[in-house]
Amino acid sequence: KNSLKHAINKLKSDKLAEVDWEGTNYTWSNDVKDILQIVFQLESFRPKQLSVINATLSGQHVIAVMPTGAGKSLCYQLPAMVQGGLTIVVSPLVSLIEDQVRSLTSKQIAVKYITSTTPKEQITEILHTISDKHCNMKLLYVTPERFAKSKRFMANLQKCYANGRLQRIAIDEVHCCSQWGHDFRPDYKYLGILSGMFQKTPILGLTATATAHVLSDVQKMLSIPGSLVIKSTFNRPNLYYKIIKKPTSQDECISIIENLLKHRYRGETGIIYTNSIKDSEDIAIELTKRGLKVGCYHANLDANDRTKVHTKWHEKKYQALAATVAFGMGIDKPDVRFVIHHTISKTMENYYQESGRAGRDGNHAECVTMYRMQDIFKVSSMVFSSIGNLDHLYGMVKYCLNGATCRRQLIAEHFDEDWGDTDCNKMCDICSDEQSEIEEIDLQWHCKTLVSIIEIAENQDTKLTANKLLDAWFLKGPVALRHKGKLPKLSREVAEDVLAFLLVENYLVEDFHFTSYTTISYIKKGPCMDSIHDTNFSLKMPIRKYTPLSQNNKKETSREMAHQVKSFKKRKTTFEAESEAKVSKIVVID
Ligand code: ADP
Ligand code: MG
Ligand code: ZN
Repeated sequence: KNSLKHAINKLKSDKLAEVDWEGTNYTWSNDVKDILQIVFQLESFRPKQLSVINATLSGQHVIAVMPTGAGKSLCYQLPAMVQGGLTIVVSPLVSLIEDQVRSLTSKQIAVKYITSTTPKEQITEILHTISDKHCNMKLLYVTPERFAKSKRFMANLQKCYANGRLQRIAIDEVHCCSQWGHDFRPDYKYLGILSGMFQKTPILGLTATATAHVLSDVQKMLSIPGSLVIKSTFNRPNLYYKIIKKPTSQDECISIIENLLKHRYRGETGIIYTNSIKDSEDIAIELTKRGLKVGCYHANLDANDRTKVHTKWHEKKYQALAATVAFGMGIDKPDVRFVIHHTISKTMENYYQESGRAGRDGNHAECVTMYRMQDIFKVSSMVFSSIGNLDHLYGMVKYCLNGATCRRQLIAEHFDEDWGDTDCNKMCDICSDEQSEIEEIDLQWHCKTLVSIIEIAENQDTKLTANKLLDAWFLKGPVALRHKGKLPKLSREVAEDVLAFLLVENYLVEDFHFTSYTTISYIKKGPCMDSIHDTNFSLKMPIRKYTPLSQNNKKETSREMAHQVKSFKKRKTTFEAESEAKVSKIVVID
């Protein structure tokens, strides 16, 4: 019975998806256009906005999936002005609600909001208004706990519905309904009753999370199976994606960033993301010492300093900010030319959003990520306590480890988008690299060696960190832990990649232990490791022969960098040449 239901729902949503929702012949089409231009002062729609608006105005339940910054808010703000009645907007963050209410109020739109800090008298007044037959309020923003905690709110909403005035329920950040998402919020589960309680009112969910798993869970949680899903593309064709092997020493690491800022990104503005306040401070100080203008931004700055730093960056008095992810919301600088990740993000989702702050103007911009194995543990020991977090982190690690597949393809796959071989247009390090070769490493013997070390350690009641395991593998460190085999024919860098690969593929697992100061990640055998003794076992890892950034390869590296600077400037020349006015600004560095 369940599978029949499932099939019917699928049919339903497939049929809805076949409709061309971009049409301009609906009864409301003229109003929609006028409101866009007169009330919102916008010239035209961004991709899929009109589809979502038409579908929700048709009375369909809709889940709209669009990247951050694509303009999801307009998809419920505009319809609220087209028909009479009230639109309820559920949004998780008070600051976001306040921003939107301020902006709508400045457009003379009748809007109110209720959050946990709204005074009682005001709530009473608002509730009185929404249950009134002659209410002229267009939008009411509420946080999700309103549905969980306030019977009075629900009662008044029912009156509003009974009066035929509950026009639409918009649920922003709707992925928060799902435990499988990266941002589950328990209060969102109370929204599941709405579709049954207000059967004639369409629900519009909005999110930047596109994984099929999360979306179908969201439909289930909201009890709107088979509802229409409208998705706009996540591909950002003007962003170039690249991974850089991160050196062990912070000093060398900063030299790479220094080099990038002084040459490749000379005269450009960007962001350097770090994963700790200390790193962001250290990097800013060190780069400043080396003659660069770099500020730092993190949650420990008071509001005043934050504004100051942000403004200086916005006005190009800083070339870059070394920042934690606290630097995120409210960045509306269109010409961010580079986003460097000094440490990997916690999830691909976060990575997409953080790196996506580059190139909003549509011109060439670059997203560079510095990766090394040790950083996995820096992040994992911070996030491991919630379910799903490690899987999300390992997704990010897979993106970095990958040496064979187009980076954009991996991003597209993450967002369940179709991808063609030529879609990248050489806009990632993998596709633009014509020199290096892909090599496959056979991991069978390596696995056996690693298992033997792990077993030796277990017998001695010793726990192995990844570094200790690597040492023993390379016949270094305590003699008692070393294996009986030969030294592996791998560089230490590649061996680190092998270890990370085995981790994300479940051949090894992390095991977390607490000390009074910190959490330590130890390495154990994973569930897949049992299969290595099978006769037909085979495990291969594709790697790209890269130029390690070690001492004896410095020359190579700087040559590679020089080559990259040239090709970047060349690309810039191409896009700047398109607008003649800009041509005089081209600086060519040789
Ligand atoms: P999201 O919720 O998808 O992250 P927002 O709704 O916050 O995005 O919108 C991001 C920015 O895009 C806002 O400044 C908004 O005014 C702007 N915007 C939205 N739609 C359009 C449009 N059709 N044309 C130009 N700007 C738009
Ligand atoms: Mg939004
Ligand atoms: Zn590519």
